[in-house]
Amino acid sequence: MPETLAAAARAAATLRHLTTPVELPRHLIEELLDRALGFELGEADLQRRDGRLLATLFYEPSTRTRFSFEAAMHRLGGQVLSAENAVKASSAAKGESLEDAIRVISGYVDAIVIRHPEIGAAARAAQAATVPVVNAGDGAGHHPTQALLDLYTIRKELGRLDRLRVGLVGDLRNGRTVRSLALLLSRFPQNELVLVSPPGLRMGDDILEALGETAVDQTGELDPVVCTLDVLYQTRIQAERFESAEAYERYRGVYVVTPDIMRCLPEHALLMHPLPRVGEIDPQVDSDPRAAYFRQTRNGLWARMAVLDWVLGS
Ligand code: ASP
Repeated sequence: MPETLAAAARAAATLRHLTTPVELPRHLIEELLDRALGFELGEADLQRRDGRLLATLFYEPSTRTRFSFEAAMHRLGGQVLSAENAVKASSAAKGESLEDAIRVISGYVDAIVIRHPEIGAAARAAQAATVPVVNAGDGAGHHPTQALLDLYTIRKELGRLDRLRVGLVGDLRNGRTVRSLALLLSRFPQNELVLVSPPGLRMGDDILEALGETAVDQTGELDPVVCTLDVLYQTRIQAERFESAEAYERYRGVYVVTPDIMRCLPEHALLMHPLPRVGEIDPQVDSDPRAAYFRQTRNGLWARMAVLDWVLGS
């Protein structure tokens, strides 16, 4: 292999991508959460990324993830090139492959954040890229930075990431946030997961088989388990993953967190949700101090600053 190609191959092999939770062993999770805390506390010794450029390439809608990644890059001192609707506003509309788009964009920026409707798209992008790639959601696959900000929130509010009983509720088949969160929680000892979903929306076997020693209960009933939880993590039924509006309608509203449910949730516990919510948490619950979902969104900024700082350090 000519030396320039060999050097390019060596450089590509050392890139720090974040495409699935597999790339997040416990020591790295802890390092990233500490770094995120440093950003939140405004610690001075953290790296500035002046002059570095990030591309955000979104083939699916987003509010929190895109804005928080872009805010994170600006706060690090860098700048952002954004395709907020890459399906229509990039050459994908002309039939260009994801791989070609990523090869080209790699030549302009220092890192790429991508959201795409296909499972595995971020990993494919990472294969084609010559800069780090971060997965901001690949269909019903994974959303690793959401899981990191969820852990950040839990650690900040409950003071630990082990010995927790966490209820993951709703569309566990299609919900990428809960798929990633289950795997990250399984990195810490003595956690118990209570998976609450209708039978048709159960957590995939690929995740269940990867949970190792973590205790798992599966149930269709929310009410009886609420009083046993440290974290109640509610999710949206993922309408866009169903084959028809009728199929979605069968599940809409299946679990709703109401003031009655909150009366059963222990005093010390948290109610979390990755948002957007579309009816599965009654707004009357918002003023309850245990309702952590808006604090959770703010934590996305610190967690994503930490992730960008880490990938740009490569
Ligand atoms: N915002 C989260 C995601 O992109 C959760 C959701 O859409 O329900 O996966």
